[in-house]
Amino acid sequence: MKPQTSLLLCAALLAAPAWAQSPPPAPTSAPNPEFDNCLNTLRAPARAAGVRDETFAMHTQNLAPDMSVIDKLNFQPEFRTAIWDYLAGLVDEERVAEGRALLERHAETLARVSDKYGVDPATVVAVWGVESNFGQTFGKSPLVQSLGTLSCFGRRQAYFRTELFSALRILQAGHIAPERFVGSWAGAFGHTQFMPSTFERLAVDFDGDGKADLMDSTSDALASTANFLAKAGWQTGQPWGFEVKLPEGFSAAGEGRRTKRGMSEWAARGLKRVDGSPLPATGSAGLMTPAGPQGPAFLVLRNFDAIYGYNAAESYGLAIAHLSDRLRGGGPFATPWPTDDPGISRAERREVQTLLIARGHDIGAVDGMLGDKSRVAIRAEQERLGHEASGRAGQKLLKALRGG
Ligand code: CA
Repeated sequence: MKPQTSLLLCAALLAAPAWAQSPPPAPTSAPNPEFDNCLNTLRAPARAAGVRDETFAMHTQNLAPDMSVIDKLNFQPEFRTAIWDYLAGLVDEERVAEGRALLERHAETLARVSDKYGVDPATVVAVWGVESNFGQTFGKSPLVQSLGTLSCFGRRQAYFRTELFSALRILQAGHIAPERFVGSWAGAFGHTQFMPSTFERLAVDFDGDGKADLMDSTSDALASTANFLAKAGWQTGQPWGFEVKLPEGFSAAGEGRRTKRGMSEWAARGLKRVDGSPLPATGSAGLMTPAGPQGPAFLVLRNFDAIYGYNAAESYGLAIAHLSDRLRGGGPFATPWPTDDPGISRAERREVQTLLIARGHDIGAVDGMLGDKSRVAIRAEQERLGHEASGRAGQKLLKALRGG
């Protein structure tokens, strides 16, 4: 969960949060007297926040700042990822298959989590899949170092100081071993990618070993995710929402997630579910058209807002919501995205990278992440092919590269 992060990074979250795009490479860091002075000034407020002096000293002595996190804080993406590209990578066949396998493997735990918190297994597993790729992507930044750096340099130091003190209290309480306490550059960590303060508010010990361990306990992580959603107002048994068909000539101007209207009003305005069935008789929902009125449209209920709370980005919420439907056996959206060049899955991204390497481009490792090196190579191939040299890889480029 990185709501503050995404808000910090990018005010315009219409399509995709900025952290989803590749940040600049990390420079190395050296000891820094300015940093040492800053850390010294933080001792007293840390103590006031419940961090014992010995805890503070143990975790901050000989600490060097990692200035690469400041570059990441200030990073402005070159271009905004289209929602169809964003979803094609986050909700692909691979993630659906993996999520379904995990639903089975953790069925017993998920049933107990669902009983206790009222959040269904597919939703919990969908959050897990989007947040950390089911526990496979935690981030590698030592949290005290990155939060310490962000507490002393850059904008938003006050915010990151509260997260730093929170991180130190978590270590002090022995929830997580110091060497395991790594995460995203901005401080989100573990299976659920909670910020430290979120951990303190909402992490739970579900396997009963006395520690809430979001790094190494799947049970604790699944329960903590459900607890987050429950505290965010999750309504048991209700859907997040569903795709709808807009009537011809419908104006969605002024509508949005937060503009909730009664189902009867939406029905009166001609909205139907995409399978043609009528809307529910009761309840209220907002209308989201993330790619404009020509693309898929969704009525979103209160539970979508709970999911939205996880990361404060509608595209992100939609990825989790859609993945949860896919895990329940649902299919892709009925309405195509308004593009003649749809996005590609992670498997297809790896294929693009393999094809780029075969053409002699140096793009680093085949990892399914289309970073700066891949983009340079993609532009070169697009120029060769006579395509627009956008640096973006979609179905069109993939097909062309397959054809040689
Ligand atoms: Ca535990």
